[in-house]
Amino acid sequence: MAESCLFCRIASGEIPARIAFQDETVVAFHDLNPQAPTHVLIVPRQHVASVDAMGPEHGQLLGAMVGAARRIAREVGAHESGYRLVVNHGPAAGQSVGHVHMHVLAGRKLDWPPG
Ligand code: 5GP
Ligand code: ZN
Repeated sequence: MAESCLFCRIASGEIPARIAFQDETVVAFHDLNPQAPTHVLIVPRQHVASVDAMGPEHGQLLGAMVGAARRIAREVGAHESGYRLVVNHGPAAGQSVGHVHMHVLAGRKLDWPPG
């Protein structure tokens, strides 16, 4: 755990969040500033700064993140209507927290291309 990392502190339970799902590998919680009726963030318990720092050694972790996303999509009934997974890396993409996180967006029509 990185002591100063916001999402490490949420994953450990030190900072409260509305948890959607958790297991031994990932924690999923509702975004504080939701951009869709369902807007959940999935983070690994392990501190990884960005998707750009991930490699083959993170394959199991990435699988767990996608697995959690699929589970959440089913829970909100979006697996057939559709949902979007977003992972931002770096300033041009708007990454604002330095702990890799996958956005799960669902519950409305999502425009493409994104802004
Ligand atoms: P990014 O822009 O880095 O891809 O996404 C970061 C997300 O984290 C944003 O959507 C923002 O609303 C969310 N966020 C930032 N701080 C907190 C927090 O303390 N709690 C929760 N639940 N979400 C947060
Ligand atoms: Zn962290």
